[in-house]
Amino acid sequence: MKNRFKISSDDKEYATWLGNRLWEQADAILKRSNVCSFKDGVCEKGKKDGCCWDCGHLSPTGCTTRSLTCKFWMCSGEFPSSCNKEMRILRRVKDQAGFYFYGRETMKQQIEWTLQRIECNE
Ligand code: SF4
Ligand code: SF4
Repeated sequence: MKNRFKISSDDKEYATWLGNRLWEQADAILKRSNVCSFKDGVCEKGKKDGCCWDCGHLSPTGCTTRSLTCKFWMCSGEFPSSCNKEMRILRRVKDQAGFYFYGRETMKQQIEWTLQRIECNE
């Protein structure tokens, strides 16, 4: 099957565009679905600031960057049924594009690592 989303190592503009669109879509879906059921700054697992605790990107007004990892990670492994289908589609696009990340990096770092990894595999 033709891969419409694949990033080329020399196309930073597309990688950045797609990374931002994926982040925005995921953010809107997760907010709408109230995935972690935050109440007074505590998530449904009882963690203050949820998965953001101790993160250098966390400010009093929230996250100061766009990290794709954080949008596609869920402590239970699966997103709830209210958004699982949509998130699986986004995850597939992300995987087909070749994005590479694993932690609380900034979007800029994730784009750079993705392009380097793709270049190594070309
Ligand atoms: S993903 Fe993180 S913030 Fe969300 S419920 Fe699980 S531990 Fe809490
Ligand atoms: S980078 Fe991730 S863990 Fe850190 S504040 Fe932003 S969303 Fe939370």
